[in-house]
Order: sequence, then structure tokens, then C-alpha cells
Amino acid sequence: MTQISTERKTAYYLGTGIALLGLLLFLSVFVTAALNFGNFDHFEAQVRSFGLRAFGGIVLLFVGSAIRNVGARGLAGSGVLLDPEQAREDLKPFSHMTGGMISDTLDKANLGKHLGVGARPDRVVMLKCRECGFHNEENSKFCQECGSEV
Ligand SMILES: [Zn+2]
Repeated sequence: MTQISTERKTAYYLGTGIALLGLLLFLSVFVTAALNFGNFDHFEAQVRSFGLRAFGGIVLLFVGSAIRNVGARGLAGSGVLLDPEQAREDLKPFSHMTGGMISDTLDKANLGKHLGVGARPDRVVMLKCRECGFHNEENSKFCQECGSEV
């Protein structure tokens, strides 16, 4: 079984932390708004602060989720790097975990065999173009990217 690297674990927890921080920042806008309801002193400054915090919160949430995603699936698996082979490798522990959990649950309910769930899907074989390196579908005669013979 492929081990998830320490870097990816760190990225996962770091991303979760950042996303959580962003969420709290975003929610704090509504809390402050509710607390200051009816208080129109420094109204413009308040609105500006709300806007900044809401925006900052959303940015943090977005960035945090992205980092978390990379941590969970690896660089290639999350689509940061375009490398199908590395993607499959990176996603292995992830899909293994998910698939294993599902088949475990189904086994307990004695439904797994009945539904045929838990069986591994057929491996997708890709043909790499000799000219440009594009990964074409199995059985393709010509490259989908540059048109040369595969
Ligand atoms: Zn090609």
C-alpha cells in the first residue's frame, strides 16, 4: 500500500486550519454585524471592515481548501500537475481508503456480493504519443492532440 508522505499530511492539516480560519473570519462578519445592529457610528468604516473580512475569509477558505485538496490527493491527483500516471499513483491511497470503507460497510450489510460493489474497476490503459507525449485512449490509432500515428 502506498504511504501518504509527511508533506501531504502537513498540507492536509495546514489547509484544513486555513480553511477553518477563513470560515471563522467570514462568520465573524455576521456576528459583529448582529452585535452592532442599530449602531450607525462609524458606519462607513464598519462596512469597509466587513467587506475586507468577508473577502479575506472567502480567500482563506478557498486557499485552505485547495491546499487541503492537494494534501489529500497529491499534486498530480488534485490536478495541479498534469501527469496521469502520477495522478493514479497519488490517488491510490485515497481511492483505496474510500473503496475499502464502502466495501467494508457493504460486507457488513451482506450486500457487497449482491450488488457487485467493491470489485476493482478495469485499469484504464493510455497510449502515450511518441510525438507530443499526449495520453490517448487505448485503441486510438492517431494522436488526439497532434494527429500523428500512435
Ligand atoms: Zn501527439
